[in-house]
Amino acid sequence: MAILIDGKELAARKREEIAKETKELAEKTGTTPGLAVVIVGDDPASQTYVRNKAKACEEVGFYSEVVSLPANTSQRDLLKVIAELNERIDIDGILVQLPLPKHINEKAVIGKISPKKDVDGFTPSNAGKVLIGSPKFAPCTPAGIMELVKSTGINIEGKHCVVVGRSNIVGKPVAMMMLHENATVTVCHSHTANLKGFTSKADILIAAVGKAGFITGDMVKEGAVVIDVGINRNDEGKLCGDVNFEQVEPKAGFITPVPGGVGPMTITMLLKNTLDAALYFTEEREKIRKKKN
Ligand code: NDP
Repeated sequence: MAILIDGKELAARKREEIAKETKELAEKTGTTPGLAVVIVGDDPASQTYVRNKAKACEEVGFYSEVVSLPANTSQRDLLKVIAELNERIDIDGILVQLPLPKHINEKAVIGKISPKKDVDGFTPSNAGKVLIGSPKFAPCTPAGIMELVKSTGINIEGKHCVVVGRSNIVGKPVAMMMLHENATVTVCHSHTANLKGFTSKADILIAAVGKAGFITGDMVKEGAVVIDVGINRNDEGKLCGDVNFEQVEPKAGFITPVPGGVGPMTITMLLKNTLDAALYFTEEREKIRKKKN
């Protein structure tokens, strides 16, 4: 039977630390970290994610602002909103909730977020920094996954890590982060031949596919660390991951549940990045103030 990696508990501990640092920052400098979340349209899942982010900000003492725009907002108007947020002194982090409506080019919008406020770590410059192993803002879900794996106490170095999924927001960056921790990494995708041949050799298996129960018991090595990134609804409408928990749990050494695994850590890393951005801007302002005096 696997040991459950409790993302909720780990996230709660980290959020306590963030709240403490936030309080200290406010006491010392009068600064409150500020996060702006931009949402276009009324997709219910996106709205839930945005609400959860705003609530998490409130809990750790951040200022947060939800910029809610109608689905027919033009790309030009959205870019204007981003430009304004880039300039605002009370906003340290900007997040654009994805997906955007079809008529908007996501890459163009993300590319306009100031890399210094890109707390999602999605801009090309921050993605490049992950590639060379010196991230400014590590993308939140991969950073959360790394924390979850490290929380097991296993040594990542020399382990075979298999990532199923190669998206820019999860699969590719987490593969890079594992590589920088000296794991041997295999990235699988929808064109991978004999997927099971790879997954069943993984010491650390990360499933970021988006298909309910996709990873079955026969695809997993005995004792593996299994990280389930997926957020899906099964036929009964119940929230579930990419891993068939009932089959995999008896075989795995460690496993994350869905819900309560990767999800809470993703938001926690967003809070951490926002706090880091606020610390950076506070330092920069202090340097300017000192120069003037
Ligand atoms: P994408 O749809 O962008 O990527 C899915 C990946 O899975 C693709 O690389 C695709 O391959 C691969 N894939 C699809 N079918 C197969 C298959 N049959 N065999 C092997 N690989 C396959 O998804 P995301 O990376 O954005 O998200 C993945 C999941 O994680 C989703 O359920 C999403 O909701 C969830 N998620 C959860 C988060 C959290 O905080 N918990 C945050 C972000 C995402 P190819 O590239 O060839 O198409």
